[in-house]
Amino acid sequence: MKRLIVAANWKMNKNVPESIVFTERLSKNLLNLRRTDIILCPPYTSLFNIGEILNKTDIYLGAQNMYFEASGAYTGEISADMLKSTSCQYVILGHSERRHIFNESDDLIHKKLAAALETGLKPILCIGETLEERQSGRTVNILKKQYVAAFRNLSESQMRNCIIAYEPVWAIGTGIVATPEQASEAHKEIRSLVASQFSYKMATEMAILYGGSVKPENAAELIATDDIDGFLIGGASLVEEQFVSIADTVEDYLAKQEK
Ligand code: PEP
Repeated sequence: MKRLIVAANWKMNKNVPESIVFTERLSKNLLNLRRTDIILCPPYTSLFNIGEILNKTDIYLGAQNMYFEASGAYTGEISADMLKSTSCQYVILGHSERRHIFNESDDLIHKKLAAALETGLKPILCIGETLEERQSGRTVNILKKQYVAAFRNLSESQMRNCIIAYEPVWAIGTGIVATPEQASEAHKEIRSLVASQFSYKMATEMAILYGGSVKPENAAELIATDDIDGFLIGGASLVEEQFVSIADTVEDYLAKQEK
């Protein structure tokens, strides 16, 4: 059975001591998950320490961003190799906050994706439409544009190391969650893009996460929705009980499917 993924995007929250205390407690509460992969993406400053804690567990470490160059005069930037040296395995790329607040272009995101793969990091590539784009009927076009720009020229083996996160911008941090129908429709669209670039098999195997105001109250309905392979979680990942509850919901769903 396909494993599902629950990834935490802490964004710019928790300093180093706070991250350590939080992760030590959290990891103890996630010990019993056998079917669900958990990825924690703390801020850069906490990566090394959190990596040391997670190395003793089955939980994966991810970063929230990186730069595409390997090294050099890029003040303030972090390379893929630097992330790897903290025992990071994943990196979130193309998050809507990077696209909209920091004006990251599709081209820049593609370069980051290529550099991450080259270095052996697994990208969690975010795509999603704004409210205005959805209301003007452009959701499918936007998903296609962002997908094609990010994944162009990738080989099958590179694509196998990628995760896609559908994150409608209007649902991120707003408390407005996509309906299961809206999420399923978008995920199907993304899967068909993967199928036409690669194969039906690759599209079926591809992990496509949903992100945008996932909470314990809506997790069960969403995870039972066709084509949703897990979650990328912002706000609720900062509250131990909420994150554990969502992870347990995903694990319970898989356990029931197994019977
Ligand atoms: C995110 O930042 O990726 C996200 C999905 O945030 P939230 O869960 O707070 O909507």
